Amino acid sequence: MPRVRVTLECTECHQRNYNTTKNKKTHPDRMELKKYCRFCRHHTLHRETK
Ligand SMILES: [Zn+2]
Repeated sequence: MPRVRVTLECTECHQRNYNTTKNKKTHPDRMELKKYCRFCRHHTLHRETK
């Protein structure tokens, strides 16, 4: 199972808020998720970083 570790970065303040894993088969591209950012103090779009 090709699960890889990814870091999710807030697209507004660019803090790296989350570490997670993803399945490369279901998400071959960069993932984008709406998550709570404690620096922005609201939900923002988080994008996968390298
Ligand atoms: Zn943020």
